[in-house]
Amino acid sequence: MATNIKPDTIRQILNLSANADYIVSFYLNVDGGKYPRKQELEVDLKALLRSAAKEWLGSDKLNRSQKKFLETDFEKISNFVQFELDRRSIKGLVIFSSSGSDIWQVLTLPVTVPSFIKIGKEPYIKHLAAVIDQFKRYCTVVIDRKKARIFSVYLGGIEEYLGFFEDDVPAKVKEGEWANLREKKIANHIEDHVQRHLKNVADKTKIFFKREKCDRLIIGGRKDIVSKFISLLQPFLRECVSGEFLAQPALPLSKILEYSLDCEREAEKREEAVLLKKLINSEKPEGAGVVGLEPTIEALTTGQVQSLIISDSLKFSGGVCRQCHFISTYLETCPVCGRQLEHHDDLAEELIQQAINNNCRLNYIKYNPEFAKKYQAGAFLRFAV
Ligand SMILES: [Zn+2]
Repeated sequence: MATNIKPDTIRQILNLSANADYIVSFYLNVDGGKYPRKQELEVDLKALLRSAAKEWLGSDKLNRSQKKFLETDFEKISNFVQFELDRRSIKGLVIFSSSGSDIWQVLTLPVTVPSFIKIGKEPYIKHLAAVIDQFKRYCTVVIDRKKARIFSVYLGGIEEYLGFFEDDVPAKVKEGEWANLREKKIANHIEDHVQRHLKNVADKTKIFFKREKCDRLIIGGRKDIVSKFISLLQPFLRECVSGEFLAQPALPLSKILEYSLDCEREAEKREEAVLLKKLINSEKPEGAGVVGLEPTIEALTTGQVQSLIISDSLKFSGGVCRQCHFISTYLETCPVCGRQLEHHDDLAEELIQQAINNNCRLNYIKYNPEFAKKYQAGAFLRFAV
C-alpha cells in the first residue's frame, strides 16, 4: 500500500463533506517500528473507538439515526484496520467517514501521525495539511540519447507518468545511405535528432511538471546528456533543478526512487541551511525574525508569526491556558485572563496546532542538531517589530 495523497486531496476532502451532519476524522499511527505486531495496533484502535463511542453514543450530541450511522462508521473503520490495512511502506493512516452522507475516504501516509479521533461538523484536516505541506513534490526525468522516462516522487513514493518513450534517433549510420557524405555531416545529423529528442522531453517535462504541481526537478542520465537537457529547459524549470544522478532509463523503478530520494535529501539539507542562515541573520533589533523557544512562543501567541521554524524533535514542558491558548514555559497563570495554566510534559503539539490555526507555514528542521540544541524554534514575522 503506497500513499494516495494528491496535490488537491485537502480541497477534495473539504468539498466532499460540505453537506454532512457530522464527520469522523480518524488518525492512526500504524508505524511498523512502533507496532511490529498488528495486534498491538489493534489495542490502540479499540481504545480510540471505545472512548469516542462513550463520548458520542452515550450523549445527546447526535439524534438516534445519526448515532446509528456513527456506529456504522466505527465498525467500518475497525474492519478496515483489522482486515484491509496493508502496512507495507505506510506509517500513518487517516480516514474520513460519515455513513449518513456516504463519505468514506482512506488516506495512507509514509510518515506517522498521532493517533486520535475527532467528530464534528467539519473534517479535521489540519494535521493532514501540515504533514502534506512538509513534503515537496519532485519530478524525476531519466534520459539518454533516444529514450526517456518521467516520474513523480512524493511522500517517499514514486509513480511513473510516461513510460519509456523513444524518439527517432538514428543509432548508427546505415551502410550506403550516407556513403557520399562526410563524417562530420553524419554526426551533425545524428546530433540534430538527439537535440530534437531532448527538446521533446523538455516539453513533456514542462507539461507534466505544471499539471502535477511539482516543486523540484531531478534529472538522471549521463552527465553530458543531462547538461544538454538542462540547457533546453525553460528558465523557470532550470531554476527548479535540484539534483542529478547517473543512470539509464532502463534502471529498475526501485533504483530510480532510491536515487531520487538521495537527491531530495541533499536538496532539503541545502535549503534548510539557507533557511537557518536567513533566520539567524534576521534576528537583529530591527529584523523580521526571532530565534529561541520563548521569543517564538511570544511571537506566536501575539499573532505575529508568518512561518514557524522548529526542530522536528521539538519537545518542551510548560503551561497552557485553556481559555485563550496562551503558552508559557515558566509562567503559572495566564497574563491575559488570569487563569491557572494547565501543565503538560510536552507542548510541541499545542504549539504546532496554534501555528496551524493562525495559518502559519511550518518548517521542520531535520538535519541540524545544532539548531535543535541551541534554539529549538524560531520564526519569521508578519511584520517587523
Ligand atoms: Zn488565558
